[in-house]
Amino acid sequence: MAKIFCVANQKGGVGKTTTTVNLAAGLAKVGQRVLMVDLDPQGNATMGSGVDKRQLELTIYDVLLESASIGEARVRSEKCGYDVLGANRELAGAEVEMVDIERREKRLKTALAEVQAQYDFILIDCPPSLSMLTLNGLCAAHGVVVPMQCEYFALEGLTDLVNTIKQVHANLNPDLAIIGLLRVMFDPRITLQQQVSDQLKSHFGDKVFNTVIPRNVRLAEAPSYGLPGVVFDPAAKGSQAYVEFAREMVERIKTL
Ligand code: ATP
Ligand code: MG
Repeated sequence: MAKIFCVANQKGGVGKTTTTVNLAAGLAKVGQRVLMVDLDPQGNATMGSGVDKRQLELTIYDVLLESASIGEARVRSEKCGYDVLGANRELAGAEVEMVDIERREKRLKTALAEVQAQYDFILIDCPPSLSMLTLNGLCAAHGVVVPMQCEYFALEGLTDLVNTIKQVHANLNPDLAIIGLLRVMFDPRITLQQQVSDQLKSHFGDKVFNTVIPRNVRLAEAPSYGLPGVVFDPAAKGSQAYVEFAREMVERIKTL
């Protein structure tokens, strides 16, 4: 039975999508069966997995509005080695269209239950907001992976997310936990980043993943080829770090 993880941080551009697609590819590489769910109308995780969001007939939008099942809407990314439930701009309308629907925050959870037995990991790429879409992700998940840059305001931004997760845990999804904070785009030469990294560790202890993802230009180049860095350039430092992170996740779920 798959463990389901949201990759979330309401802050924009912190590396959520990069983490989702590279973790998915890394997990596939170490033999895990993976479904990657794009919950962001930007569709970056879809494109970054080699799936053209403009060509998709069915997306997560249809799944949330119950006009298609995940079995019908998912596609296989052969190059990446995992399945993709894609998204495009249409998804931006879902928020409004779901306003009057009952149990609207549980739509994704219900849909995933049908395919959960077919995977080891389901990863959900969340948009940069604490919206109804993100709430659907949090309601469906066992845990949240929070990518963060070690910058001055990083801890401050975390408070909102942690409070939201606590509320969802208390009211909607008792299974939900913060699995861990992932330090991304890390540059050890910058003293401030080292300091914030140390602060994170003393605040959150073993909730901080051991793996650190370095700033690496190959990870940033990969999406323009429609690939995760892990597939585009497996030898790159950033790619190797994400495969290492995949291994850490495989170990971590044994303790869940
Ligand atoms: P959004 O909030 O818009 O969804 P995001 O949190 O998903 O953004 P990404 O799109 O993954 O963030 O990353 C933002 C930018 O940083 C992208 O251009 C990406 O290629 C780049 N990037 C992410 N991780 C790294 C890294 N480790 N090294 C270098 N560049 C990176
Ligand atoms: Mg993103």
